[in-house]
Amino acid sequence: MIKVTIWNEFIHENTQEAAKKMYPGGLHLAIGKGIACDDFEIKYATLEQDENHGLSEEVLANTDVLLWWGHCAHEKVKDEVVDRVMSNVWNGMGLICLHSAHMSKVFRRLNGTSGKLIWREANERERIWCANPGHPIAQGVPESFVLDYEEMYGEPFMVAPDAQPIFISWFEGGNVFRSGVTLQRGNGRIFYFRPGHETFPTYYNANVLKVISNAVRWCAPTVRFPYPTTHRPNADEQISPKVRQTSPEA
Ligand code: ZN
Repeated sequence: MIKVTIWNEFIHENTQEAAKKMYPGGLHLAIGKGIACDDFEIKYATLEQDENHGLSEEVLANTDVLLWWGHCAHEKVKDEVVDRVMSNVWNGMGLICLHSAHMSKVFRRLNGTSGKLIWREANERERIWCANPGHPIAQGVPESFVLDYEEMYGEPFMVAPDAQPIFISWFEGGNVFRSGVTLQRGNGRIFYFRPGHETFPTYYNANVLKVISNAVRWCAPTVRFPYPTTHRPNADEQISPKVRQTSPEA
């Protein structure tokens, strides 16, 4: 079993009619329903759930892969929770950052850049191309697929130079974007996947759900232990005594 926790800031679906109508109960539930299968044990957590935003140490210790959806409340996420998520990723927990999570504290700190990009809300057509068809996240996904109307995210994308592109998007307005990239931080595998505005039916699209469920399998930990381990080791070899120079003059 892969233990999956889907985290959602869960604000738009409570405050905007269009989002509420598109994702009744929250888009975390739609994603969970969309990727549900016999070998995923899926749980949910939200920003306002409790003082830990639903992500206590115990919850994270029992999470193989954390999905993160945030859009308008990145700054409301407590730094202590961000630290906890980050150390779990370094230890081996998988992390999937969806849509506007490129600006989440968790992604920006793990990514190591501002995470910024250009965007436009014009309900435009997006074609997502697979740039690495041999990658496990691309298995069973067509060479390209179309989302009829999406928010545009475009290059330049301030993502770390070690990000490996799996998907590249073309938008009706002419922009392109690295829509699906992988990163590794310590033992933890990270996947960023762009589609998913809260008022668009993105998380009902079979190809989008296929990519996310492939990513859950790929991000699941192969090892999990405290990383890095720091200590002061005794020398294994004999260190010969030397007369040390104690001033700049020889
Ligand atoms: Zn959006």
